[in-house]
Amino acid sequence: IACQQRLHKTNKLNMFVTETTSGELQKQIQSSNKAYIEGAAKPLEGIPIAFKDNFCTKGVRTTCGSKMLQNYIPPYDATMVTKCKQAGGIVMGKTNMDEFAMGSGSLDSCHGPVINPWNLVVSPHIHSELSQNSPAESDDTASLNEPDWYISGGSSGGSAAAVAAGACLAAFGSDTGGSTRNPASYCGVVGFKPTYGLLSRHGLIPLVNSMDVPGILTKTVEDSALVLNSVAGHDILDSTTFTEAYTPFIIKEDLDLSKVHIGIPKEFHAPSLSEEVLMLWRKTADMFEKAGAKVSQVSMPHAQLCIICYHVLCCCEVASNFSRYDGIEFGLRDGSEESTEELYAGSRHKGFNGVVRGRILAGNFFLLKKNYTKFFLKAQKVRRLISNDFRQVFSTGVNLLLTPTTLTDAPLHSWFSKQDNRTRCEEQDIFTTPANMAGVPAMSLPLGLSRQGLPLSLQLIGPHFSESLLLSAAHWLE
Ligand code: GLN
Repeated sequence: IACQQRLHKTNKLNMFVTETTSGELQKQIQSSNKAYIEGAAKPLEGIPIAFKDNFCTKGVRTTCGSKMLQNYIPPYDATMVTKCKQAGGIVMGKTNMDEFAMGSGSLDSCHGPVINPWNLVVSPHIHSELSQNSPAESDDTASLNEPDWYISGGSSGGSAAAVAAGACLAAFGSDTGGSTRNPASYCGVVGFKPTYGLLSRHGLIPLVNSMDVPGILTKTVEDSALVLNSVAGHDILDSTTFTEAYTPFIIKEDLDLSKVHIGIPKEFHAPSLSEEVLMLWRKTADMFEKAGAKVSQVSMPHAQLCIICYHVLCCCEVASNFSRYDGIEFGLRDGSEESTEELYAGSRHKGFNGVVRGRILAGNFFLLKKNYTKFFLKAQKVRRLISNDFRQVFSTGVNLLLTPTTLTDAPLHSWFSKQDNRTRCEEQDIFTTPANMAGVPAMSLPLGLSRQGLPLSLQLIGPHFSESLLLSAAHWLE
């Protein structure tokens, strides 16, 4: 109930696309109360959880932030939703996001942009202005330009903001190139992308199948571990989930840091890294060292190729994945249908924003017979080199990598909205995409505040299935 009140108090942040009805919420709360009284409470019993609007929810509209799916009501629940419900979780609703999870700002949604809840803390006057100018009631984002505000990051901005604002205790995002960790960094919450294959993607509307991972957003590392252990494991409906029996990952309270080797990848010292993030990075590495950990510089020579490689592979998978949105079986249908061709073209033109259309076009270009080897195959090879960098570093005894999550604290809307999509990706995804390329687990942790009073975060990355150590080290830091 307290979360629902927070949700309503912070409505103007535009975090939720669809809210669970009060009646349905009451039903869920009553069943949780009963479970507690009967001593049958399950791991997530009574915990309010939100889902990014790209997780299918049975009977509840799932829009992916796109006009294309504005009226789409899935006939089934995504496995993450099913597992949360089975574990006693209470679904608060569906959160706002960049259209089809393409973006890093949560500005590119057909429901309007997500406002970072930290605006309420650092610029209270901005909030009073916004109260009279609800982004949820208008798709005219220009009205938000004055006064300026900090973005939430994306594409899971609604989920990160909902946790930060206290509208839920945990939220699911998706992470294909950083979409869980980026908004976590800007909203000051824990953003966790587990090992690829640990969590089922069934019912998560795909962006890049070979990189998509359901992400977990929480206030603390312990909460993150609780959610992970409640939803991880093999799913017969997702053939890429690992098949071995799942043993829960445990946070070691008495982690012996003298047995831990932290690597600092030198290639992550990007020229545009802000002084404040750099200082925090140094300070945290020193903390590890003082506590007995071995800290050394490592090299990941192919990390610099990540952005371009991600771009090619993402567009190719998008070109293939998005052919399903043809206006025939589901999604928006253009009324003026002279021919089948025109029906396809009209529906796709009206349904998708420019970013989505651009990626479909680029992907089809990369996949042309004459370009296939030059772009797609080449990018696959580069992806392998990037993965091998991780393998190589971890084979030398390094247990975890410590890196920034983002270059700066949350950018201002006025600045961010001037960048084109390509520049945004280059700047926003630089530290996050490598983990997606390799499928390894990574977590963004809020560890400080900037001069403006906004959260600053760092990232820990581990080898495949090293979640126990990753969570333990992250817990030690928080
Ligand atoms: N910013 C990246 C993109 O636009 C990341 C997306 C994601 O992780 N879903 O593709």
